[in-house]
Amino acid sequence: MGDTIFGKIIRREIPADIVYENDEVLAFRDLNPQAPVHVLFIPKLALATLNDAQESQAALLGKLLLAAADYAKREGFAERGYRTVINCNEDGGQTVFHLHVHLLAGRHMQWPPG
Ligand code: AMP
Repeated sequence: MGDTIFGKIIRREIPADIVYENDEVLAFRDLNPQAPVHVLFIPKLALATLNDAQESQAALLGKLLLAAADYAKREGFAERGYRTVINCNEDGGQTVFHLHVHLLAGRHMQWPPG
């Protein structure tokens, strides 16, 4: 896959408000937040979309979600609730082609989404 803005954030070539990092996962605040809390959890391994994830990467996908849940607990809004979203390709509204999980919190979320 080609490089993306998220690859540049991983390599510290452009700034981001990083809130969490381990060997495999990086999390930073979304530049255009859709809720009072809006954090993106990305694998350091560059996968373009969820469609590109392989069976061998099942644990990595799980780690993205667990990192999001840990963050919610640590920040104190886990009990109140939050939403995690993975947009995939055009109909899903994906604009950055480096797989990411959106974590949204701090307001009541409507369902179904628009
Ligand atoms: P998606 O539409 O699911 O691909 O989400 C991409 C998200 O990345 C959007 O919510 C953008 O606001 C966010 N975004 C784009 N560039 C940056 C950046 N440099 N730093 C933080 N968030 C970004």
